[in-house]
Amino acid sequence: EARISGLPCRVWNAEQEERSRRTVERLGELQEALGREQLHLWYQPKTHPDDGRLLGLEGLLRWEHPRLGNIPPDEFMPQAEHTGLIHPLTRELLERAAADTLRLRESGIDVPVSVNVSARNFLDPEFAERVLAIIREAGLSPRDLELEFTETAVMANPEEVIAALDRLQNAGVDVAIDDFGTGQASLSYLRRLPVHALKLDQAFVREMTRRPVDAQITRAAIGLGHDLGLQVVAEGVEDEETLNELHQLGCDAVQGYGIARPMPLDDVIRWTHANSPP
Ligand code: C2E
Ligand code: CA
Ligand code: CA
Ligand code: CA
Repeated sequence: EARISGLPCRVWNAEQEERSRRTVERLGELQEALGREQLHLWYQPKTHPDDGRLLGLEGLLRWEHPRLGNIPPDEFMPQAEHTGLIHPLTRELLERAAADTLRLRESGIDVPVSVNVSARNFLDPEFAERVLAIIREAGLSPRDLELEFTETAVMANPEEVIAALDRLQNAGVDVAIDDFGTGQASLSYLRRLPVHALKLDQAFVREMTRRPVDAQITRAAIGLGHDLGLQVVAEGVEDEETLNELHQLGCDAVQGYGIARPMPLDDVIRWTHANSPP
């Protein structure tokens, strides 16, 4: 009996070992990539569901690995979080987003740029002050940068997160709850969180025109967000029909492949000029 249960256990261990070895290797590389030109911030537009005007840009991290090609953030962000590398990484990304925001302003594009931050970032008691310092040093206004974070960030240490959010919102930096509806945070947190927007997860949006249940959830979430005085942003909008339905439901902003994919800064500047209403 022991042998029977021992076999899958050994297989699993070997797999785990291999995985953790690769993780350690990759983290060393990620650390180096930080100082090199392998990490890029791409930007995906958020637009108005009615007239299509640009409302904001979300920065999304891209790692162009010299051997492995593009590595999606989902494959290395969890490791960066576990090891604490997330702290210098987020600082670097905020600084780049600030510099890119100045470039956008020079090109006549005046919308906020949002940066994704991790649960772990809030464990740094200086986090809010660091964000404000980066904005100040770049010569930007707090309105120029926004943050997105997921509900799981709150669960870990609600008091610290709420304090940091208070500090940021009071200073004028808007914050959005990302992937709303998929996390485990209860609705009572939502009431206490000083945020300005909810981002509805793609899981509900992508198939809402084919699945009535998804459409119902989307409608309810938009109503809840508005009742709480929050903006509601839908992500994962892949076609015109979904866009129209979201407009009818009163959604404030839309984002998705059907509008534009994430792009390098120069492309997003060209895209905006080509798509701005006359
Ligand atoms: P997220 O913040 O929910 O970002 C949205 C993800 O959905 C992005 O994937 C985006 O490319 C993708 N997406 C946008 N529109 C559509 C659509 O219409 N259809 C589909 N199928 N996908 C769409 P990406 O760039 O691979 O990022 C994945 C996740 O990695 C992000 O989810 C975010 O949690 C994390 N991430 C990305 N960049 C950063 C970063 O700079 N810092 C941190 N902490 N996390 C990041
Ligand atoms: Ca996001
Ligand atoms: Ca999201
Ligand atoms: Ca996500």
